[in-house]
Amino acid sequence: MAIDRFGRNINYLRISLTDRCNLRCVYCMPEDMTFRPRAELLQDDEMMRLVHLFAGLGFRKIRLTGGEPTVRANVVDLVRQMAAAPGIEKVAMTTNGLLLDRLARPLAEAGLQRVNISIDTLDPDRFKKLTRWGRVEDVWAGIRAAEAAGLEIKLNAVVVRNYNDGEDLIDLARLTLHQPWQVRFIEMMPFGDVADFQLAGVVSEEELRAKIAAGLGPLRPVNDGQLDGEARLYQLDGAPGTIGFISSVTQPFCASCNRARLTADGRLRLCLLREKEVDLLSPLRDGADDDELRHIITDGIWWKPWGHQLAQDVIPLNRVMSEIGG
Ligand code: SAM
Ligand code: SF4
Repeated sequence: MAIDRFGRNINYLRISLTDRCNLRCVYCMPEDMTFRPRAELLQDDEMMRLVHLFAGLGFRKIRLTGGEPTVRANVVDLVRQMAAAPGIEKVAMTTNGLLLDRLARPLAEAGLQRVNISIDTLDPDRFKKLTRWGRVEDVWAGIRAAEAAGLEIKLNAVVVRNYNDGEDLIDLARLTLHQPWQVRFIEMMPFGDVADFQLAGVVSEEELRAKIAAGLGPLRPVNDGQLDGEARLYQLDGAPGTIGFISSVTQPFCASCNRARLTADGRLRLCLLREKEVDLLSPLRDGADDDELRHIITDGIWWKPWGHQLAQDVIPLNRVMSEIGG
């Protein structure tokens, strides 16, 4: 079991398969982003070696992210190997959905169970503005393909002031009246070069709930207001779906954090919003044996920071979001 010094059992690994992406969302990365050379990224066999080590340390759930995880070559095969790794019970993915049209079925057949698909607005023009060139109809094709493949679906929307904080919220929340989906609104978090833009555009959960309730009626707490993963859930009257809020900025959930992150370049990132990382790639390439790697991982997890310090103006500057994966 991997435990940190605050007694938290860390058993959920989020793996960034690549720092590359087929979009450039304004809240995620600069338009002229440069990507790492492929040789600096974990190769398939290196990644799988680490996955087996993490599974042996008690990790049970993996979420694949990016950049955009579906642009990684061999993504289906990696999912197959991860789903088959002894100890791993669940493999999920966070994706912009653009390539799901052709990948949803093979991914589901390989053992993927759930997809969180990012869709920040249903309006084609505003979607293009937020993603710099994306077509919202391509995301819809991905959502339909994921449904047809039998994948569990959640929809994610990052809310950015003056981009999608108006009728977009109502349109997205309204989907839960007709579909059994969870639509989650995410407070924008600050990273690296994009931090000034992000801090200026953050919209709080409180404001989001008020706007949705004004448009669609009261939001009733689900599960007595307890967190479902990182989201606080609500429901509109008569809705089959739920509305979630992920409010890392105004209502952090650090006390219940059970995550560690593996970046595409092989760093163990211990908190999304703190710079602290442990290099796994170098020892792996320098010939460390399994015991040595296990020790580096458990020692890193022991020193996992308690949580973020955004309130004290501590902002992680060493990476932007697309290099960590959320
Ligand atoms: N490309 C995939 C996608 O967009 O779903 C996976 C990687 S993306 C970095 C993971 C999640 O982080 C997405 O839901 C995205 O909307 C969200 N995200 C990106 N930048 C963010 C930010 N600054 N604050 C909060 N969430 C952010
Ligand atoms: Fe790409 Fe996802 Fe970042 Fe958008 S949020 S630029 S889709 S990694």
